[in-house]
Amino acid sequence: MDCIFCKIAVGDIPADIVYEDDEIMAFRDLDPQAPVHVLIIPKKHIASLDDADGQGELLGYLMQKTHEIASLLGLKTGYRVVNNCGDDALQTVKHIHFHLLGGRKMGWPPG
Ligand code: 5GP
Ligand code: ZN
Repeated sequence: MDCIFCKIAVGDIPADIVYEDDEIMAFRDLDPQAPVHVLIIPKKHIASLDDADGQGELLGYLMQKTHEIASLLGLKTGYRVVNNCGDDALQTVKHIHFHLLGGRKMGWPPG
């Protein structure tokens, strides 16, 4: 399958990996929007949240790990987790991923 994040997950494309286990991986975004900007993905290919029926256990695990990864990265005063799903949200990579952003004060609402 021609999926950038699947290739990162198996090591075919290099990435700055900050956390990895059998199920998930977290790596730094190529175009960071905050001092800390990491993408957290399941290694298994799921195109988007719209395609995640039946994946509750995996996504729950990923969410649970997110705070550990935030802690690992020193985000003591808060952070934001973002999922862009579909065209209106400007999802550009069709492999589900959660942006973990931190290290600066965020604005609200996002654009
Ligand atoms: P989306 O817009 O789909 O929510 O986010 C995709 C993110 O993936 C963007 O923030 C973009 O900078 C990042 N990205 C795209 N290609 C690569 C890549 O090859 N490596 C890394 N590390 N990040 C990427
Ligand atoms: Zn994929």
